[in-house]
Amino acid sequence: MGAAPPGTARTDPPIFDPAAFRLTEQEAALTAQARAFGQVVLAPRAARWDREASFPTSNYHDMAANGLLGICIPAEEGGLGAGYRAYCLTAAELGRYCGATALTWNMHVCSTLWTGALTEDLEMDTATRAEHRRRRRIHYDRILQGGAIYSQPFSEGGAAAAGTVAFGTTARRVPGGFVVNGRKIFASLAGHADYYGILCTEVREGEDRRSRRDTLYLAVPKDAPGVTVEGDWDPLGMRGTVSRNLVFQEVFVEEDAALMPPGLYFQAATRWPHMFITLSPTYMGLAQAAYDFTLRYLRGEWPGTPPVKRRMYPTKQIAVAEMHVMLEQTKALWFQAITEAGPDPTKEQVLRAWAAQHTVMENAAALAAKAVRTCGGQAMLKSLPLERIYRDARCGSLMLPWTAELCIDRIGREALYEKGETD
Ligand SMILES: Cc1cc2nc3c(=O)[nH]c(=O)nc-3n(C[C@H](O)[C@H](O)[C@H](O)COP(=O)(O)OP(=O)(O)OC[C@H]3O[C@@H](n4cnc5c(N)ncnc54)[C@H](O)[C@@H]3O)c2cc1C
Repeated sequence: MGAAPPGTARTDPPIFDPAAFRLTEQEAALTAQARAFGQVVLAPRAARWDREASFPTSNYHDMAANGLLGICIPAEEGGLGAGYRAYCLTAAELGRYCGATALTWNMHVCSTLWTGALTEDLEMDTATRAEHRRRRRIHYDRILQGGAIYSQPFSEGGAAAAGTVAFGTTARRVPGGFVVNGRKIFASLAGHADYYGILCTEVREGEDRRSRRDTLYLAVPKDAPGVTVEGDWDPLGMRGTVSRNLVFQEVFVEEDAALMPPGLYFQAATRWPHMFITLSPTYMGLAQAAYDFTLRYLRGEWPGTPPVKRRMYPTKQIAVAEMHVMLEQTKALWFQAITEAGPDPTKEQVLRAWAAQHTVMENAAALAAKAVRTCGGQAMLKSLPLERIYRDARCGSLMLPWTAELCIDRIGREALYEKGETD
């Protein structure tokens, strides 16, 4: 439970017990691998990335070595072939030990999940699909053979990342590729990813109109002329994500930079909405970590702290019971949502996906806050992981396109209106 400091033999139980939750063999194996990796490798290093607001480069070297960078690359193309749910469960185990690593790893993995398993559910004519598979192979080979890291800078500071208007970053077709112009904010892995997987709008000569249907998903090489990283990074939490700003000025990328064919991202966003829950596994892990820490601390078992037991006080027991109830509620809803992810979900499934995203993000923060209050003053010292968990968990509700607020907006509207209804 919680981040096991180096040298401790303790093995944490799984967040989702494989037998109880009827996990597949692959899910059981991947989550066990992630848990072991999290305890031994991620947890002891997590305080450093947080303190320095530095990118966890050595974690990525280790993840390249153990195959985790290719977790969602199809097995026939050399990856571990994890599907959506297997990825989510694995990411939750990593988030339990280092939020910033799990969150940035999510950006990387989505560049393979969205171009891999997810696109198999989308419509493309035969020639387009063959071309897509040829192209994604280039990206997969970079990851599998060179340890390349991909990021996902979508946000621009306006309504585009919320999914309501077209992206302001543009791509203009030129012979052999595209020229990209624009600016992204909160670009996790800025300066550290090898490729920035940007969303931008294709613009054509003489056309003013910009449409979300023309969204392109392009991998821009980190060192391409015209790419710059700007601004500082000194945030409340998730400090190791290094989410600085990216500027693209007349950046040429070749045609094979396209991670999806034209029109496919729009189809994915409308037909496969669960693609937007992929930020939540990190916070599911943080919710578990807050609970883990509390149990261990109140039992007087956190290494490096005096063996003072606090578990005999009724108020502590009540707080733990309330945390347990909230954690189990969160797990149950989230597990259902990630289990039913797929193309063309029903209205009920989409409402549940928003409810699950909202619940995980809000409850992770609430559990961490309760853990601080319950464990008491000494537990929030920076020598212990709880205050980092608390700050990291606070960031979940802000993540577009499904911020906690936007989930509430959409649930309220969609629950009350059927398609085409207005007042
Ligand atoms: C640690 C961290 C890492 C991040 N990493 C990435 C990353 O790698 N890639 C990435 O693309 N983004 C990333 N983000 C950005 C994140 O997803 C948001 O885009 C960002 O926090 C938005 O900041 P903002 O102040 O512009 O938000 P807001 O002002 O809350 O939202 C931006 C816009 O969305 C619309 N909007 C927001 N709320 C509502 C509402 N209730 N109703 C209607 N419209 C609304 C509005 O147009 C608003 O101007 C990261 C954020 C954090 C905190």
